[in-house]
Amino acid sequence: MKLISYRYKDSVAIGALTNGHDITPLSDIALDMVSLIELGAEGLSQAREHVNQANEGIALDDVNLLAPIPRPVRNIMCLGKNYAAHAVESHRARGEKVELPQFPLIFTKATTAVNGPFDEIPYDPGISTKIDYEAELAVIIGQDGRNISREEALSYVYGYTVMNDVTARDLQRQHKQFFKGKSLDGSAPLGPWIVTADEIDDPQNLQVTCAVNGVQKQEGHTSQMIFSIAETIYQLSKGMTLLAGDIIATGTPSGVGFARTPPEYLKPGDEIVCTVERIGSIRNRIAG
Ligand code: MG
Repeated sequence: MKLISYRYKDSVAIGALTNGHDITPLSDIALDMVSLIELGAEGLSQAREHVNQANEGIALDDVNLLAPIPRPVRNIMCLGKNYAAHAVESHRARGEKVELPQFPLIFTKATTAVNGPFDEIPYDPGISTKIDYEAELAVIIGQDGRNISREEALSYVYGYTVMNDVTARDLQRQHKQFFKGKSLDGSAPLGPWIVTADEIDDPQNLQVTCAVNGVQKQEGHTSQMIFSIAETIYQLSKGMTLLAGDIIATGTPSGVGFARTPPEYLKPGDEIVCTVERIGSIRNRIAG
């Protein structure tokens, strides 16, 4: 199933997308996506029943799609340098010795960074002039868990979505810790939906791409991750409880703007499309 959060006639609701263009509202199962996720398999089976019994849906064109989880339960957890080619380009661009991480490099983005899948990304040159894109596969955790084994890890995944890990490179450098440069308002476009885990037989076999103004800038494949999704869940959950509704962004392939020669940063009017195979695309314009 493709699960969405949307605004329709001034109210916010969740639904399932069928036939690519009809929405079956799921509001009488749960009021928001995290509440639906917390219902687990029972919530999904009720959602399937709703879809099967629905005779008249709302047209996708008539709603405003929101991020599937517009206000996450806590910060989005993100992997840095999880594709070797991106780790190499990042170190080279900064004149540093090339080093691949031995353990997942984890930082977070503020919940207030979440942005809709087709909404504008705010731009204020007084705050940052080095805004960059990062197309990523994002994993949605389906149930609370701690000390999750590698073998069981994927059974904790509720579904998958697409994230653009928009980054203010100047702030990322200036503050040393990534948090601030990764957390400007609107810097986590997410969506356009959650594809439930049952529809993605192998999440390590998906192409990830990013295009800016129609020109492809990133092309990677989730098989190239240094730390697989299962390994990441295993490492993250060691002694630390993962929560239903948690979002884990799995890192970006090579081709980001700051590592290009010369560096390329986003400017007002630029349109960025991030795509993950079998999941979908998000399209966001830099405001101004
Ligand atoms: Mg990233």
